[in-house]
Amino acid sequence: MGEIVNVKEIVESKKVELKRRIENLKEKRIFPKLALILANDDKASRVYVGNKRKLCHELGVLEEEYTFDENVVEEELINVIKKLNKDDSVDGILVQLPLYNHLNESKILDCISPNKDVDGFHPLNLGKLMIGEKTTVSCTPKGVMTILESLNVNLSGKDAVIVGRSRIVGKPMAQLLLSKNATVTTCHSKTKDLKEYTKKADILVVAVGVPHLIKKDMVKEGAIVLDVGINRIDGKLQGDVDTQDVLEKVEYITSVPGGVGLTTVISLMENLIEIAERR
Ligand code: NDP
Repeated sequence: MGEIVNVKEIVESKKVELKRRIENLKEKRIFPKLALILANDDKASRVYVGNKRKLCHELGVLEEEYTFDENVVEEELINVIKKLNKDDSVDGILVQLPLYNHLNESKILDCISPNKDVDGFHPLNLGKLMIGEKTTVSCTPKGVMTILESLNVNLSGKDAVIVGRSRIVGKPMAQLLLSKNATVTTCHSKTKDLKEYTKKADILVVAVGVPHLIKKDMVKEGAIVLDVGINRIDGKLQGDVDTQDVLEKVEYITSVPGGVGLTTVISLMENLIEIAERR
C-alpha cells in the first residue's frame, strides 16, 4: 500500500527555513516585497492572490496588490509593470493568470524584468534553466522538486515521465528532472499511447487538467506520482490522478487538494527571498 505524501509537513518546515532567511535579510535592512497584479474577475484567481498575500503576512514579507477592472487597456498594465521594474523597494512582480481575454498574456509577462520575475516565466529565466544556469524557477515544478527532495528520492538514472508540456509546468519540470540526471519523457495531447509511457515511469508528474486521467493500469508498481492537476468538479477539487485507484500500487502519491498546490505558493516565497538575497 502506497503512502500519501504529507505535503503540509514539508511546507511547514520550509516556512521555518524561510522565516529565518527573512530575519537575516531584515537585519541587513532588506525588507522583501512582492507586487501582485490581478487583471481578471475569475473567482479562483482572487482566492489564489488572497492566499499568496496571506502567506506574505505570515512570513513577514511586504506585499501590495494592483487590481484592474475589465476596462483596463494593455498600455496601462504595462506602464504599471515598468514602474514596478524601476522601484527598488519591490523584489518580485507577479501577474496572476489568466488575464482578461483582450490582454496579450505573453506580451505582458515579458515586460516583467527578469530580475523581478518571481514566477520564473520570463523567456530569459526559462532559457537559463534550459542551459543549467542558476535562475528563478517556475513555482509549481520547483515545488515538485521540493517534495522529491523531502522524500530523499535519488533521481539519477530514474525514468521520469511528465504528462503536459506547458510553459509554466511541464517544460520547466522536464528541465529540472533532467538536471538531476533522470531520463525524461514528456507526453502531451498528441502522444499516441499515453499508457505505454506512464506505466514505465519511476517518477510520474501529471499536469494536464483532466480529472482522474491516470488510473491504476497506467502506473508502474512502486512509482512516485506527483499530481499537479487541479479540477473543480461540483465545487470540489480533484486531481488528474485517481488517487484511491492507484494508491495500492504506488510508493508515494500527492493528493489534491493538499498536495503540489501547497508547495507552489511556498516556492513563490522562496523565489522572492532568493531575489531579495541577491540585492
Ligand atoms: P495547460 O492547459 O497549459 O497544459 C495542459 C497540457 O496537458 C498540455 O501540454 C496538453 O497537451 C496536455 N494534455 C491535454 N490533454 C491531454 C491528454 N488527454 N493526454 C495527455 N496530455 C494532455 O495546463 P497547465 O500546465 O497550466 O496546468 C495543468 C494542470 O495543472 C491544470 O489542472 C492546472 O489547474 C493545474 N495547475 C496546478 C498548479 C498547482 O499549483 N498545483 C499550478 C499550475 C497548474 P498539448 O500541449 O498538446 O495541448
